[in-house]
Amino acid sequence: MTTTRFAPSPTGYIHVGNLRTALMNYLIARKAGGTFILRIDDTDPERSKEEYVDAIKQDMEWLGLHWDRVERQSERLDRYAEAADKLRQMGRFYEAFETPTELDLKRKKQLNMGKPPVYDRAALNLSDAQKESLRAERGNGVWRFKLDHERIEWNDGILGDISIDAASVSDPVLIRGDGQVLYTIASVVDDTEMGVTDVVRGSDHVTNTATQIQIIKALGGHCPRFAHHSLLTGPQGEALSKRLGTLALRDLREQGVQPMALLSLMARLGSSDPVELRSDMAELIDGFDVARFGSAPTKFDVQDLFPLTAKHLQSLPLSDVKDAVAGAGVPADLAEPFWAMARENITTLSDLKGWWELCRDGAEPMIADEDSDFIAEAIALLPEGPFDGDTWAVWTQAVKEATGRKGKGLFMPLRKALTGMERGPEMATLLPLLQVIRARG
Ligand code: GLU
Repeated sequence: MTTTRFAPSPTGYIHVGNLRTALMNYLIARKAGGTFILRIDDTDPERSKEEYVDAIKQDMEWLGLHWDRVERQSERLDRYAEAADKLRQMGRFYEAFETPTELDLKRKKQLNMGKPPVYDRAALNLSDAQKESLRAERGNGVWRFKLDHERIEWNDGILGDISIDAASVSDPVLIRGDGQVLYTIASVVDDTEMGVTDVVRGSDHVTNTATQIQIIKALGGHCPRFAHHSLLTGPQGEALSKRLGTLALRDLREQGVQPMALLSLMARLGSSDPVELRSDMAELIDGFDVARFGSAPTKFDVQDLFPLTAKHLQSLPLSDVKDAVAGAGVPADLAEPFWAMARENITTLSDLKGWWELCRDGAEPMIADEDSDFIAEAIALLPEGPFDGDTWAVWTQAVKEATGRKGKGLFMPLRKALTGMERGPEMATLLPLLQVIRARG
């Protein structure tokens, strides 16, 4: 059965980059009728925070990316220790004692000589006595996985055929000197034991995948299908990594971005299919195919979310937005006509308030000098209430006949006088609202 996971480290809020990973894994699982696991990668006790775990769950719920179960790496440390023992017994695990400064120096020397900065495996030559004295001097060493120097190959769901020379990769550290288990092995143990069949993640993980394939094989596990999506850049192609902090999902939510707008964009951005606003999750699932994504960096412009949000809001019935309408101050009995007027004229729900204020308080009229007589004449012709959907047509017809004005010269001054703006809602829907409310006030 298809099983996927989204595996954030709870060291911060999720941002648009993580969302791409979460969404792709979610859609693959749902499309196949499989299982979607939310896995919390919290083996780092210093950087992992419970508040981020809660925030990740809230953000996922806001988006409607429901998981089938939660797993936490911090509760599975014994499983990782067991796997580490297995690798030790197989002779695939060795202790190394270089300090970060020493490693840095080695890397610099290699680079100076034009060589790739790959760990030189010096620790493999240490005798037991040397290890003993290094341990006494520096504390426990790190544990590195000894890669087999052969080509590691897989068919990537997005990148196609990949072949990496293991000799060009440093033996990965899987356990730190202080005993902390690192993601590389924890993830392998989890993916294997949880029967994960498909792993989609960012292309910054490609080298990890190569080493993880060897670790999975060493432990006798079954390799999932891997797919690596391209990294997001800003609209100009600039690196987004530094700005991701400002592109947290909760900030986008604060700015009024609607989940469907965000999901619709992310499910298509960087693929050969056009971005289309989807109306619900079922449509997103239906229209998703990971193989349609390309390896080129994907440009992301936060501004693209707003037209999609506006379009999504336009499609909603009042029942979906009634809290927001009430929150803007609109009385329940006017909610229906108010929403019918406002929905076409908002970008986010926070714009409702302004339209409500216009209905309730009226606007500072915008009347050009040359229009002042015309407006006075028009106001005198306003029909008696109550106004309805036909009032605007009846009124403007009467004004037209009386003044001889027509087209833009007729409508625009009236709009500006009534709303203080050159653009806005259909006057036919707005006019009855203005009147009802004003009459009450
Ligand atoms: N915790 C890892 C990360 O956030 C998970 C990567 C993976 O999907 O394997 O980068």
